[in-house]
Amino acid sequence: MAVYSLPELPYDYSELEPVINPQIIELHHDKHHAAYVKGANDTLEQLAEARDKEQWGSINGLEKNLAFHLSGHILHSIYWHNMTGDGGGEPLAADGVGDLADAIAESFGSFAGFKAQLTKAAATTQGSGWGVLAYEPLSGRLIVEQVYDHQGNVGQGATPILVFDAWEHAFYLQYKNQKVDFIDAMWAVVNWQDVAKRYEAAKSRANVLLLAP
Ligand code: MN
Repeated sequence: MAVYSLPELPYDYSELEPVINPQIIELHHDKHHAAYVKGANDTLEQLAEARDKEQWGSINGLEKNLAFHLSGHILHSIYWHNMTGDGGGEPLAADGVGDLADAIAESFGSFAGFKAQLTKAAATTQGSGWGVLAYEPLSGRLIVEQVYDHQGNVGQGATPILVFDAWEHAFYLQYKNQKVDFIDAMWAVVNWQDVAKRYEAAKSRANVLLLAP
């Protein structure tokens, strides 16, 4: 029985036009994200088989595949909800997301500083990767991570709350080689309500991650 399943998109394929065209959304969700879900399920099955047979010759590859596919599934599941056709601007207290706005200002000095850092991190990924805003529970601060593939170059324990997919499959059909233009355009569809909800949830489970009272 499959452990993971492909979540439905929270909107139509055309929701994010003109920032992202419907063809990209359809392929990205129905093919690419679906492949990570299948990959995670397949890898769990292969690991179960290895345990049954006590055959561990492929353990390194299987553990790497699990990290890759599971992280791909998790990041894409966040990505769809991080975007909305009514998004953009910056988080404002007047919109009920003041805690997030304050945390960004405290962690990065200003919204402009944060925006510049996440834009740079996403736009300068070498090969495939992501720019990620994450809640880091030891410090209680927000940090920006530049993720390699789906799972590399991340600190343990931080929770992603806003993710920019910088893989070519996220933009190439529309933006060709202009990754910087795509990342700049992404800011117009950020769903700050969703990011704020994830920020509050990440804070509330910080103690679980730290195993502290
Ligand atoms: Mn992707």
